[in-house]
Amino acid sequence: MFDVIVIGLGAAGLFSLSVLDRGLNVLAIEKNEVAGRKLKITGGGRCNLTKIYDIKSFPNYYTHPSFVRPILNAYSNEKLMDYFVSGGLQLTEEDGKVFPKSEKAQSVIDFFMDKIEHNGHKMNFSEKVLDIEPHPDKLVVLTDKGRHLTRNVIIATGGKAYTPVGSDTSLIEDLFDIERFSSGLSPIYIESTAFRDLSGVSIRVQLKFSDKRILAPMLFAGKYLTGPAIFDASNYLERGDVFRIDFVPEFDEDKLRNLLLSEIVENPKKLVKTIVQSALDLPERFITVLFNELSIRDVKAGDMKKVDLYNLIFHLKNWEFKVRSKFSIDKAYGTVGGVNVAMIDNRTMALKSNESVYVVGEALEPLGQSGGFNLQFAFSSANCSVNNIHNKYKQ
Ligand SMILES: Cc1cc2nc3c(=O)[nH]c(=O)nc-3n(C[C@H](O)[C@H](O)[C@H](O)COP(=O)(O)OP(=O)(O)OC[C@H]3O[C@@H](n4cnc5c(N)ncnc54)[C@H](O)[C@@H]3O)c2cc1C
Repeated sequence: MFDVIVIGLGAAGLFSLSVLDRGLNVLAIEKNEVAGRKLKITGGGRCNLTKIYDIKSFPNYYTHPSFVRPILNAYSNEKLMDYFVSGGLQLTEEDGKVFPKSEKAQSVIDFFMDKIEHNGHKMNFSEKVLDIEPHPDKLVVLTDKGRHLTRNVIIATGGKAYTPVGSDTSLIEDLFDIERFSSGLSPIYIESTAFRDLSGVSIRVQLKFSDKRILAPMLFAGKYLTGPAIFDASNYLERGDVFRIDFVPEFDEDKLRNLLLSEIVENPKKLVKTIVQSALDLPERFITVLFNELSIRDVKAGDMKKVDLYNLIFHLKNWEFKVRSKFSIDKAYGTVGGVNVAMIDNRTMALKSNESVYVVGEALEPLGQSGGFNLQFAFSSANCSVNNIHNKYKQ
């Protein structure tokens, strides 16, 4: 009989095995032939491990912020970085994002594998878990190769997104009632055709919907929008939802109005288009499309009607888009949906209905924005489950 079976050797499973006490009898079961297939391609192969923000601000970057808060507080970005550095994995930082110094995700997988080898934990590859049967004193883990008995199980089977690496949610779908899955960290197809010709144009924008404000670069890509701002927004938006884009987030409306009015008064012979482009430093192709859409293409500053100026300012700060769809989940980078957080005790990561069964990582509902938030949650939630198992053995 095992003390712990960890199902899935992705980010959360590898972390769990690396910190599970070597005195425990531990087995990991992974359906792929190797560990960490998704982890290996994270951050474009560089592996963005976490973010250098105050941990108190982290929950704002996830769906289900109140569920993730105690988990992240208990095992913060600083603790995670300490764990890597003291274990010999050098780190580097770029724009607040933390990567291994090697800039190779494989070095993170190697770091975990060394720890696991040192701990002496057993790993079965190319074996898929099909079911978990609870019994009063044990759990029976049924796989396509046989059955294993254990006292505790950590389900670290990940989300549904990005199937080229073998993502598979069949186990959690069989065990739990999962409301829905949808794509997160995904480009967004929009209803409007106005900006279709702007492929390749990138602008730092602020996306606005409900109480969310997302400030980051966005890229036009024909029928869809993409880039960090759109990826992050896709975690919250669904088909039919409306969001607004502020193309000049560094100016509030008053500042923008005063700036444009004074430029217009000073340069009555210039085209308004030229004035706006140089004053706001926006890409020429974008300005051309915007002015065509607002039917003020060739208006000179001296002829600009006040109502047209106000209309322009409003649209620069509030252009409305409607979500037509997102990338399908097999191509998206993140999973919206998963095991319902109401079923989980977020002090332990165990099911409220069975404290021997833990669920961690992207198999759960919370999804973080881009920038290292999802790996941090995978590691923090895994650490929380392992702490609770260790506490059981101390008693
Ligand atoms: C292209 C891409 C880039 C990304 N970049 C970043 C980044 O830089 N930073 C960041 O924070 N996040 C990033 N993410 C998100 C991040 O990779 C995931 O959130 C994270 O890997 C989730 O970890 P996990 O352990 O929960 O799941 P996974 O890493 O997906 O691991 C789950 C494991 O369980 C196995 N498994 C599933 N079902 C079974 C079963 N029934 N039996 C046995 N094994 C099973 C799977 O084969 C897999 O190995 C990226 C995602 C993608 C797709």
